[in-house]
Amino acid sequence: MADHYEVLGVARDASADEIKRAYRRLARELHPDVNPGEDASERFKLVTHAYDVLSDPEQRRRYDLGGDSSPFGGGGGAAGFGGFGDIFETFFGGGGGGARAGRPRSRRERGQDALVRVTLELGDVVFGTHRDLDVDTAVLCETCQGSCCQPGTSEVTCDICHGAGNVQRTVRSLLGNVVTTQPCATCQGYGTTIPYPCATCQGQGRVRARRTVSVDIPAGVETGLRLQLPGSGEVGPAGGPNGDLYLEINVAPHEVFSREGDDLMATLEVSMPDAILGTSTSIQALDGEVELDVRPGVQSGDVLTIKGRGITPLRGSQRGDLRVGVHVVTPTRLDGKERALIEEFARRTKAPSPRLAEFHQGMFSKLRDRFRNG
Ligand code: ZN
Repeated sequence: MADHYEVLGVARDASADEIKRAYRRLARELHPDVNPGEDASERFKLVTHAYDVLSDPEQRRRYDLGGDSSPFGGGGGAAGFGGFGDIFETFFGGGGGGARAGRPRSRRERGQDALVRVTLELGDVVFGTHRDLDVDTAVLCETCQGSCCQPGTSEVTCDICHGAGNVQRTVRSLLGNVVTTQPCATCQGYGTTIPYPCATCQGQGRVRARRTVSVDIPAGVETGLRLQLPGSGEVGPAGGPNGDLYLEINVAPHEVFSREGDDLMATLEVSMPDAILGTSTSIQALDGEVELDVRPGVQSGDVLTIKGRGITPLRGSQRGDLRVGVHVVTPTRLDGKERALIEEFARRTKAPSPRLAEFHQGMFSKLRDRFRNG
């Protein structure tokens, strides 16, 4: 989804004035009356949508928070639906003498995109998962099926503009008479009026509702990733095509496992006797038990790699590995007998005195730093 700030070419901290100026400049360049190209029309829609959101302080605040950018949820009701008309009048109503008579605009517009966040456990990421999400959105009005009219009635041609959607006015100025074209105030530029608006949707063709969206979330997703669900956003005004729904992924931190690419990382604490003599153990991975052989003489910082027990990547099927860094735990409390045994051990092995060696930037310290940084 295009970032609204990028679409308008303004900084994220742009003032309301800067946003307005940016929109005005782009709209002059891209408005369908000026620039009939298909590309321009698409860009104009994007630019207008971005302006719709960013010019409304409440919508902008929610957009900055990454929340639902739809006009719903605010004061509720129909006020939010009228965005385009307001802008149209703001920028083209009093327009310069060069404005050409355009066609009436359609009530039907594409619905806005919506964003929902979903938090997953790390275990969900290993194989992918399924979620049923409740989304507050706009859906087609069942009563009028998007026609905006009470059943049995229909829209009628506007008396004032006779269906043109705009009216011409001659203004006297110092330079002579200037003919300006303005959207018809009676029909707001639609060319038609609705004598009997649908009572269910107040003539908007859509109503607010909670909808359940079923989503298969693939394996290998990570925090910040946005999945696009085309056509699952809100239905447009007058039953216009649906916008898209974006699903933003958040993966909750796991108390034992962390992720490094497609690998899962953890630490295995091994007692000093087990480290010396070696041992076999079974650990609980995210996808079941794993048998681990710890070789005799294992050192702190050694990494045991269990192939194919990591995360299934987003693209591809070759699972990553499970990597377990060994941490040898030195006993801190010994009774008299144990102490005597260790002293005997030390005498027999003639262990060297502590000595300085090259700084060991081993795998273990890297692992530990990684855990510390979350
Ligand atoms: Zn209706």
